[in-house]
Amino acid sequence: MSYETFPFSDEHKMLRETVRDLVREKIAPRAIELDETHEFPAAAMAELGELGLLGVYVPEEYGGVGMDFTAYIIAMEELAKGCGSTTLTYTAHTGLCITPILLLGTHEQKLKYLPALCSGEELGCFGLSEPGSGSDAGNLQTRAWKDGSDWVLSGSKMWITNGNRARRMVACAKTDPEQPRGKGITAFIVDMKSPGVSVPKIEDKLGLRASATAQVFLDDVRVPEAEVLGSIDTGFPVFMQTLEGGRVAIAAMSLGLAEAAFEKAVEYSKQRHTFGRALAHHQTIQTYIADMATEIEAARLLVYQAAFKKAAGESVAREGAMAKLYASEMAMRVCEKAIQIHGGYGYVREFEVERIYRDAKLCTIGEGTSEVQQLVIARQILGAAAKG
Ligand SMILES: Cc1cc2nc3c(=O)[nH]c(=O)nc-3n(C[C@H](O)[C@H](O)[C@H](O)COP(=O)(O)OP(=O)(O)OC[C@H]3O[C@@H](n4cnc5c(N)ncnc54)[C@H](O)[C@@H]3O)c2cc1C
Repeated sequence: MSYETFPFSDEHKMLRETVRDLVREKIAPRAIELDETHEFPAAAMAELGELGLLGVYVPEEYGGVGMDFTAYIIAMEELAKGCGSTTLTYTAHTGLCITPILLLGTHEQKLKYLPALCSGEELGCFGLSEPGSGSDAGNLQTRAWKDGSDWVLSGSKMWITNGNRARRMVACAKTDPEQPRGKGITAFIVDMKSPGVSVPKIEDKLGLRASATAQVFLDDVRVPEAEVLGSIDTGFPVFMQTLEGGRVAIAAMSLGLAEAAFEKAVEYSKQRHTFGRALAHHQTIQTYIADMATEIEAARLLVYQAAFKKAAGESVAREGAMAKLYASEMAMRVCEKAIQIHGGYGYVREFEVERIYRDAKLCTIGEGTSEVQQLVIARQILGAAAKG
């Protein structure tokens, strides 16, 4: 198994076992129900807070457990084996809200915000996308201007995971409209209880139906100067850095979802008999199983190559994009085959592979679509020639 290729520490191995136990006992058994009722995975998030996983790579002085990025990726993979909705909720909170505060925040800001986010007392979200800018994130339209000692934010954020539940949103806004796309952008820590913040709509989605995806209006929301994250006009690269790790996390989520679908397909192929034999005996099914296993193994290598490199403090612009592109598209292929192996039973709720398939589709879209990952990879290879 490719896990042995990588230098996982004893702490990493213990963490994997801990998350596996939690998923088996408490998270996976509720996944069907949450998908059907759209109930927010609040109980699972509380458990993750108690285990220290919400602040898995946050230093202890800020309320975290001080592990590394690889530990976070292990948690993502294992959680995704049990419940996609919980996994997306977790990554939006930890990977997308806590990370920019860690990267950009002052010591005072970290002391003020991180302990409550790490414990789960407060939930976080990340406000980059807007109705008119997803892939083209640098073209955002939300504006912020200075008024006395406050900043005033006005605009609309779209697809915000945890947007209706979060107390804190790390949001970005254009602070210098004269600057071209991707420049003159500043990051802010927005208190979601501030006057002017509203959530007009929760999306009804194909998958990940227990995660909350919200539209968030910012109508002249006042943000004190002390809640500016980093320096004025330079926020965009930090968002891109946040997404660099986020892509590895979504790749790990894809891996976990694919592994879950694969395990169910293998099990089913041994139990179901057609033409007097187990499905597993039929050669076509065997080739499906072999292809699925090989693709999962390849994705795992890409995911942990990127995770260990990022944990060592190196940039993973290329490796993260490759891991996300391959793992998310792989998860679609593996889930589709898992449904096929289940036949008609794969098409109904009870056997779960259809839910995993629906959940996995988001991984080819969120935190940069597959097409955007291809652009990122091509630019890494072609350099200036790709832009000309
Ligand atoms: C469930 C869910 C949760 C999300 N959570 C968050 C969140 O918490 N915070 C947040 O900020 N955002 C979030 N997002 C937004 C997500 O990141 C965007 O949806 C994604 O980046 C794509 O943007 P878009 O939807 O505007 O699609 P578009 O950018 O309009 O793209 C449409 C299609 O065109 C393709 N395309 C666009 N430009 C190019 C190009 N140059 N070359 C080739 N193809 C191109 C895309 O790949 C895609 O296939 C979430 C989205 C979903 C669905």
